[in-house]
Amino acid sequence: MNNATSGGPGRIAGNGAVVARAPAKVNVHLQAGPLRPDGFHELRTVYLAVSLFDTVTARPGDGLSLGLRGEGSASGRGPASVPSDRRNIVWQAAELLARHAGITADAHLEIDKSIPAAAGLAGGSADAAATLVALDALWGTRATRGDLAGLAAQLGSDVPFSLLGGVALGTGRGEQLFPVLARRRWDWVLGIAGEGLSTPTVYAELDTLRAEGRVGPVAAGHAGDAAEPVIAALRSGPASALAATLDNDLQAAALRLRPELRRALAAAGEAGARAALLSGSGPTVAALAEDEDAAVKLAATLAGAGVFRTVRAVHGPVPGARLVG
Ligand code: ATP
Repeated sequence: MNNATSGGPGRIAGNGAVVARAPAKVNVHLQAGPLRPDGFHELRTVYLAVSLFDTVTARPGDGLSLGLRGEGSASGRGPASVPSDRRNIVWQAAELLARHAGITADAHLEIDKSIPAAAGLAGGSADAAATLVALDALWGTRATRGDLAGLAAQLGSDVPFSLLGGVALGTGRGEQLFPVLARRRWDWVLGIAGEGLSTPTVYAELDTLRAEGRVGPVAAGHAGDAAEPVIAALRSGPASALAATLDNDLQAAALRLRPELRRALAAAGEAGARAALLSGSGPTVAALAEDEDAAVKLAATLAGAGVFRTVRAVHGPVPGARLVG
């Protein structure tokens, strides 16, 4: 099916702009296996796409150019950490799609970031996925959904999930996806700390902790089904079942790098969260709420707790990268 993701070039707005958005993710389960020869860890993770979105606007251009607003930009909230030149992952996404389509990469891209950078929320991956969808439509590349997923996997481990959205089991380095049907909505509060954490640094810390024997060895029979109870709970609840199964192997490593995150996790529990864990490599705290009302109250309490830079009530699952407008 052509243009299954984008709806095709017919969605281009009158002023020539195409707008796509993609969601942040929370890893409700993350089991990191041994380090592979290629430098990645073998993962078994359960992704949940949540309602915090970055937007990418693509316009016709001569060569590639890039504008950046919001989280991580020089003028936005949070530390300025997102490059606005060819080091940005959206630049790589544009060049990769152009090469795939056999055309020149001509476009002006504007990223509007609401997803904090280096927060364990896959913000860069969301931008890359939104760029693939927007430029597929702008350029009329007629890439299939499978084509875009293949390009996404070349861009980064989390990019295929940013494209797919919903709930999925991720294996390999996280890029091999098995969609999961979740029948209910889940409400969360994301507590965002001030400084980002580098994903490779957190994985390296996990390797150190394991070498020192400070955290358990790599799970035996890594292909086992420790993700199954999480998936079963996500499908139909109740919240207490999901709360009991949340689990992230990277949390111990992130906590050793940032001991103050213990206080942030405890604050979420004290404020009434069903459970809380770090999302991915952190430092974002994902606090599970019973329902939407509870999430609003939890967000208000945590906003006043003085442990987070920003607090956001979100829900999931939500769709992956899509055209908007
Ligand atoms: P993940 O959860 O996928 O491991 P993350 O959410 O922790 O990743 P990102 O927000 O994707 O981290 O950013 C990681 C780094 O990538 C940033 O510190 C920044 O230097 C670089 N980067 C490049 N392009 C982008 C982008 N569009 N948005 C955010 N960061 C970007």
